[in-house]
Amino acid sequence: MTNNLFDSKKPSGPVKTRGYIVYVDRSLCIGAATCVAVSEKTFALDSEAKAVILKTADQEKIETIIDAAKACPVSAIIIEDEKGNRIYPKE
Ligand code: SF4
Repeated sequence: MTNNLFDSKKPSGPVKTRGYIVYVDRSLCIGAATCVAVSEKTFALDSEAKAVILKTADQEKIETIIDAAKACPVSAIIIEDEKGNRIYPKE
């Protein structure tokens, strides 16, 4: 599918963007694509219908990425600060 991945070795992250660490837990992701609708510069679905992270994530506001994480029905998008403290979902 996309050759626009943030990191082709780790399609679903973790990646570091705007001072935050973002990744998708592929074992949780059910391909609902809500994240793609909310944050289309950051997320896309791969051929397995799992969310991957695009290199244009750097152009997205972190607030929008957090909104996408909150919109995910299975909380598969995980966001941490640079020190590894969980931003979302709260543990
Ligand atoms: S919203 Fe969640 S379940 Fe749906 S594609 Fe995105 S990460 Fe996967």
